[in-house]
Amino acid sequence: MKKHLEAIIPYSPGKSSAHADAIKLSSNENLAGCSPHVQKALQAAVADIAYYPNQTHALVAAIAKHVGVSEDHVMVGNGSDELITLLAMGYLEPQDTVLSAEQTFSQYQFAAQLIGARYAVSSMVGDSYDLDAMADQITDSTRLVFIANPNNPTGTMVTESAVVRFLNRVPSSCLVVLDEAYYEYVERSDYPNGVALLSQFPNLVITRTFSKAYGLAGLRLGYAIASPDIIRVLNVVKQPFHVNALAMRAGLAALGDPAFIRESVATVSEQRQRTLAFLDGFKDRGVSYTDSVANFVLIDLPMTGQAAFDYLYQRGIVVRDLASFGRPQAIRVTVGLPKHMDRFFSAFSELMGSI
Ligand SMILES: *Cc1c(COP(=O)(O)O)cnc(C)c1O
Repeated sequence: MKKHLEAIIPYSPGKSSAHADAIKLSSNENLAGCSPHVQKALQAAVADIAYYPNQTHALVAAIAKHVGVSEDHVMVGNGSDELITLLAMGYLEPQDTVLSAEQTFSQYQFAAQLIGARYAVSSMVGDSYDLDAMADQITDSTRLVFIANPNNPTGTMVTESAVVRFLNRVPSSCLVVLDEAYYEYVERSDYPNGVALLSQFPNLVITRTFSKAYGLAGLRLGYAIASPDIIRVLNVVKQPFHVNALAMRAGLAALGDPAFIRESVATVSEQRQRTLAFLDGFKDRGVSYTDSVANFVLIDLPMTGQAAFDYLYQRGIVVRDLASFGRPQAIRVTVGLPKHMDRFFSAFSELMGSI
């Protein structure tokens, strides 16, 4: 194996539960599933799976229209995870540095490790990215900066004014990636309009995904929005048929059902509020949470996340222990439908009663 790959621990998806009626609240998927338009499109698309995928242009055009850019600003990927890897392959040299924040999505470090580049992290303020601290850390070797907005696992966001101030301090030789995997869920008016910033900052890349609000995590489909120069580089390093035919058909159908997204977002907003109100009842027992704008909540606990995970797992509820994110006394819980949250509330109450 190449020397610089030895430190990489292969990604392992969370355990699924043995319970027949287990609920998975560990990967921030859409617990309402996906649009019925998608189900129908997939049934029709199965007839053509003997052929290589040929919907790239249609899908790129549909995404470009959806986002409000021209087609040469869009690249699709086998999940936004692939786009992160393509950015690393297209832009990183081993002597370069990738910069992100302390508690964030693990794929940014993976991108650096894959090339043997350095991975640097800036400290956070509370549970959020500190973009001023991050800008202070940029050097001549910083080639890629990743900002998860909203952040995973904390659910917090950085504002438009903070992003613009940051972009003004970044040299054009450094790409800034705004990872907007939870874009659809954000309802705050100070959330940045990344697409509007593209014309002013040609070193900006926005990634989004069909894995979360659209409910297509299993099909693997994401996209990047960036200047045509960057899109060209990503096309150079991609495999010929990196996005499969079913994912493309599903993406096209999903974009045709905006009502599904509106409903999913409304449900999550309601259930997130309900969850926070429920957690407020345990404030004096040492339970707190972050200010999440996404479809999950980070809960700080008066016990290890591992202990809470084990207890809930026994009861058929799978959450994410955040020890690997550097937060050993916390769990991340996906916000689902009322029935999922009811089950979580009752098991969590039991857990708190047990200590
Ligand atoms: C879930 C998630 C993604 C999505 O990855 P896909 O490869 O598109 O499924 C990307 N970034 C963050 C921060 C995420 O939490």
